[in-house]
Amino acid sequence: MAEDESVLNNNEGFNDLMLLLGGSSSSRDYLVRNTGEKVEIDKLKGKKLGIYFSTSSCFYCRQFTPHLVAVYNELSSKGDFEVIHVSADINAGEYHSYFDKMPWLSIPFSDSEKREELREMFGVEWYPYLVILDENGEVLTAEGVEIIKTFGSEGYPFTPERIEEMKEAALNPSLRSILVSPSRDFVISNHGKKVPVSELEGKVVGLYFFSPSYGPCLEFTPKLLEFYNKLKDMGESIEIVTIGVPGHSEDEDEDEEESFKERVMNMPWHALPWRDGKSMVLAQYFDLHILPALVIVGPDGKIATYNAVEDIEDYGIPAYPFTPEKLSKLAEKEKAGWPQKVKHPLHDEHELVLTFWSSFRCDGCMEIGHRWAFYCKECGFHLHPKCALGEELERKGGGGPTMNKLVKFLQSLLQAFVAVFKKLLRF
Ligand SMILES: [Zn+2]
Ligand SMILES: [Zn+2]
Repeated sequence: MAEDESVLNNNEGFNDLMLLLGGSSSSRDYLVRNTGEKVEIDKLKGKKLGIYFSTSSCFYCRQFTPHLVAVYNELSSKGDFEVIHVSADINAGEYHSYFDKMPWLSIPFSDSEKREELREMFGVEWYPYLVILDENGEVLTAEGVEIIKTFGSEGYPFTPERIEEMKEAALNPSLRSILVSPSRDFVISNHGKKVPVSELEGKVVGLYFFSPSYGPCLEFTPKLLEFYNKLKDMGESIEIVTIGVPGHSEDEDEDEEESFKERVMNMPWHALPWRDGKSMVLAQYFDLHILPALVIVGPDGKIATYNAVEDIEDYGIPAYPFTPEKLSKLAEKEKAGWPQKVKHPLHDEHELVLTFWSSFRCDGCMEIGHRWAFYCKECGFHLHPKCALGEELERKGGGGPTMNKLVKFLQSLLQAFVAVFKKLLRF
């Protein structure tokens, strides 16, 4: 950070664009597009500039670049924001295939001296790295990546005042601030029609974060569909908006987009366009770690619950409309009949206490759990109720097929054996 500050505190800014971006040992006075077209540096005068340091070999760069493209396109109508790619690639072929996906300018790959000079000048130590300069060449921020991820095109013009304003606004979200972007005030229907966001206001709206290439999302969709149809039959006015979460490989992007569009057609509700500037902003805002996720916005525009997936799977219709009171009542009902404390062979040193969690990892089956866990505070040890009470629960439920019981019994035997074995190893 200290090194950055010398650049940020440079009162003179970078008003001499030729000095900043032109050839360092040549008379180059232009930048290039991926079509090979040369663009005079003089033409950038009076524009805000994003100096974008990235490399095709970096996973986070490949993830971030399409998002910056979406934001860049959204801002293109303003005509005063330009991005300049400063590649850290070593191989020309890799540089070109990466730059091919960028609609902005680049320092020519051949000018490696300038690329290095810029990296040093801005103290770039990791990628992706985005420095934003104002129209006078003053550094507005060196945290462009974080700002773009958090606020998208709404962060424009990226001044400290605007960022403060956006941070304030984020504290009091509304359906409008969540879904509308400067270039779009509608969502799209499953047949591609524009539906104004105002039509969704005042209703219960589910934001369905969905990756078209991720198994758990594909498994949950039919359950959500059933839930949605039942509510509609009951005359409820729930609306759902699918928000695509791109997977992890950019090369598969085209297939992913196709498969997103196909799947959205079979969901009888709305969606945001694929790779809309808002998608990543929302994923970041709701701090998504688990997919699928269904954020519920109440009729008053307030967030009712951050993930209703488990509630739908476990409770179904009674969970609707996901108000905290309703969900806590259901959770109370669920634990009736369970002991407050148990001793379990997987953790026989301490008693486990029934405790409420929004999510936890079960130390028995290693899967993620929600709501109730039998928990040891001293050791941070969690067990699902079904993992802690497995056999008892089954007895209460009248018993499952014998084979299941046998498998469960063998599993718990194995778990207990592993626990003992671990203990032996410790000594
Ligand atoms: Zn478990
Ligand atoms: Zn313990």
